[in-house]
Amino acid sequence: MNDILVMNQIVKKFGKGHTEITALKNLDFVVKEGEFVSIIGPSGSGKSTFLTIAGGLQTPTSGEILINQTNFTNLSEKKRAKLRFKEIGFILQSSNLIPFLKVEEQFYLVDKVTGRKKETSYMEELLESLDILALKDKYPKDLSGGERQRVAIGRALFNRPSLILADEPTASLDTEHAYEVVKLLVKEAHEKNKATVMVTHDSRMIEWSDRVYRMEDGQLREEKISG
Ligand code: ADP
Ligand code: MG
Repeated sequence: MNDILVMNQIVKKFGKGHTEITALKNLDFVVKEGEFVSIIGPSGSGKSTFLTIAGGLQTPTSGEILINQTNFTNLSEKKRAKLRFKEIGFILQSSNLIPFLKVEEQFYLVDKVTGRKKETSYMEELLESLDILALKDKYPKDLSGGERQRVAIGRALFNRPSLILADEPTASLDTEHAYEVVKLLVKEAHEKNKATVMVTHDSRMIEWSDRVYRMEDGQLREEKISG
């Protein structure tokens, strides 16, 4: 299986002088096609910084990142944005929906930006599997936090990215929907060969992971999966 995401010796520092902190410390990480990897660890340990750097939303202080063999670190901002849009599905802690677009319009915007024709049946398939098909004519303000999050998850998958990066995607969901969402992400990884990295607080959500890492002080350590 191909490496989808490779991170070599990533360092990320914030601030200067005596307020400087090193959020990531020479971190190495690889995720291959078809793998579902979970990252756990305490608040402030660097998980979100790791994920946003993996997806090129911020740049590391040093180190290199390859997405599908393309070196992300050397690209111009414009090329990086293009690669990010094509290859990466982000699911962030806040759902980032566009307030003035109905649920289905959030998806049609992706079709439009990509320059492909409307993929209504694929959109409906995703909405159905996320248990929100009935909401497709609603605006974000008329949805609960959990429903909004599920729309954002559907939208992230809609572009068929090769890499999915999810930052606590289940945080605003009740247990039942949290399981459904994680199962959907695992299925995407295993059946559609997506490389998936999920940051989570919730130890109940890691049982289907192929690998689990713990973030501690800006470094990743592989955990043994029990059971
Ligand atoms: P986690 O997601 O595990 O809670 P973060 O990646 O958000 O951790 O943060 C890791 C460390 O980096 C924390 O000490 C946090 O305060 C710091 N940090 C994160 N983003 C910034 C920033 N933009 N400016 C300064 N410090 C930051
Ligand atoms: Mg975080």
